[in-house]
Amino acid sequence: MDNLSEKQNVFLLLGSNLGERLQILQSACAMIEDRVGFIQSASSVYETAPWGVLDQPVFLNQALSVSTALMPEEVLRIILEIEHELGRVRYERWGARVIDIDMLYYGDLVMDSARLTVPHPRLHERRFVLAPLHEIAPDFMHPLLSKTTKQLLYECPDPGEVEKIS
Ligand code: ATP
Ligand code: CA
Ligand code: CA
Repeated sequence: MDNLSEKQNVFLLLGSNLGERLQILQSACAMIEDRVGFIQSASSVYETAPWGVLDQPVFLNQALSVSTALMPEEVLRIILEIEHELGRVRYERWGARVIDIDMLYYGDLVMDSARLTVPHPRLHERRFVLAPLHEIAPDFMHPLLSKTTKQLLYECPDPGEVEKIS
């Protein structure tokens, strides 16, 4: 980051398919606002088909745009901490979970470390990410693929169903 005092816009994707899903998303939003930064915009909540592991309950997903003064590694640490506090347990890869919080973008930053990859490496393959993200950031440009959310959604071959519920 050139200027550490400058706030960055971080896009997060929340997901839940276990427990009181809507309440869990709301709790996650409150904790994010408290610890990461001001939520500038939040998409509607979408009910979405599972991806990767198909034999599990449907998800609720929501995209957020958050203004943060934190460095990317700090944001990651905090979102993992929030997942833990909300009762997330990791069973199998892409399996059912009370809460998942993924960092989609951190401004225009491109980074790939052992713990953190941004942009999220699978975001463009997932309709359940692109549909809510499109609602709040249709013109945001993917810094590696050089395509807007609108273009990525249009070109996304993922057949998974995505339905806006609120
Ligand atoms: P996927 O990443 O395909 O959506 P997942 O969300 O189920 O799968 P998790 O078990 O939640 O995967 O995360 C595993 C690890 O991924 C985390 O501990 C974290 O270190 C790492 N990770 C790397 N890049 C990111 C990112 N952009 N956002 C969130 N976690 C990330
Ligand atoms: Ca995820
Ligand atoms: Ca995750």
